[in-house]
Amino acid sequence: MNNELLIKNGRVIDPANDIDTKCDILVVDGKVAEVGNVKGPLAESVRRVIDAADKLVVPGLIDMHVHLREPGDEEEETIASGSAAAVAAGFTSVVCMPNTNPPIENETDVEYIHRKARKARKTHVYTMGAITKGLEGIELAEMGFMAEAGAVGFTDDGRGVQNPAVMLRALKYAAMFDVFIAQHCQDEGIAGEGVMNSGYYSTILGLPGIDPLAEEAMLWRDIQLIKKTCVRYHAQHISTAGSVGLIRAAKKDSLPITCEVTPHHLLLTEECCSEYDTNYKVNPPLRGAKDVEALKQAISEGLVDALATDHAPHLQSEKELEFLAAPFGIASLECALGLYVKALIEPGILDWPGLIRLMTEKPARIIGIDKGTLSKGKQADVTIIDPNAEYEIDVNKFRSKSRNCPYHGWKVKGKVEKTIVGGEIRFEA
Ligand SMILES: [Zn+2]
Ligand SMILES: [Zn+2]
Repeated sequence: MNNELLIKNGRVIDPANDIDTKCDILVVDGKVAEVGNVKGPLAESVRRVIDAADKLVVPGLIDMHVHLREPGDEEEETIASGSAAAVAAGFTSVVCMPNTNPPIENETDVEYIHRKARKARKTHVYTMGAITKGLEGIELAEMGFMAEAGAVGFTDDGRGVQNPAVMLRALKYAAMFDVFIAQHCQDEGIAGEGVMNSGYYSTILGLPGIDPLAEEAMLWRDIQLIKKTCVRYHAQHISTAGSVGLIRAAKKDSLPITCEVTPHHLLLTEECCSEYDTNYKVNPPLRGAKDVEALKQAISEGLVDALATDHAPHLQSEKELEFLAAPFGIASLECALGLYVKALIEPGILDWPGLIRLMTEKPARIIGIDKGTLSKGKQADVTIIDPNAEYEIDVNKFRSKSRNCPYHGWKVKGKVEKTIVGGEIRFEA
């Protein structure tokens, strides 16, 4: 054997196995061979030893919500550039959204993503498929064939499925393949042409607002539909206090519902739009301070199942348009960990094991992949983090093709040192 790797002396955090202890990890043939105090002849002769003293050694991070823009908008991002950004950010698995151009809506499209990801040889890329053809919300896409080809779930992300009858049909159809349905909850009738949260700031800025009710009305409606179908349902990027209340009640009723949040809805508020800087234009929009508090409270209560990024790269030229015309979205993949440390660990809402759980084990379970742990025998996807390293976010150093990121210049803690995918070091700081 000549492909062993020994990661020594790190603080190994593996929430799925309730492990948080200083020990070693031996990787052989791309798999976790041992977790513990690795001794003996093999430990002496391994090809490479990584000294992880004072570092965290965790299961490879998983981001279940990214936009990689391929096919169709390769000038903004490609599967190759997005994958390189992902491993630099510690993500060994990402799930890309199907609202590409054209959308991912049949098995050939799913295979195309997988092929491109294999070629990029950076992170594992999973894809979701569209719920409806052309993301038009009318006719169901070929979910069965896409599931067979490896789509991990379905969403029309970018928009929600507006017609309740279509959504009900989608849930019933999904039940046949044991996949989950994810929703960008937003009632377009209520949201109208809004470009930011509706309220005091939208009024003084003279910009059309998106009422929190646009999100909550669709989430409430979908909860009624899940009650009827009991299909696994995932609410994407929830952003309002009202949504938290709905999720809390639905979970109390033991409905099969999960949800995610993004860093921007934890760190930024609608006030950030005051200078008309389009880097703060995002969908769902940045909300009020009370909503931010409610989301943090939800995380501390264990109501939030996954921390995602909703990495949404856009061209500078598009983001330079006026606030009304610029596209929604923030490129956040490469600063996600530091942002989550700032939002959740520094204020004491989560400890490291709690944070890692929401970035590994829990999202893996939602998307149904055999990852997110360091159990013996599993594929060796491992991220090594320096929890104390402080650094300044610099968009000019992004591997991502896009720079639409309002966090440029922020000082954050928690730096990814190495990202190991299937036993191979794919990123080193
Ligand atoms: Zn969305
Ligand atoms: Zn999205």
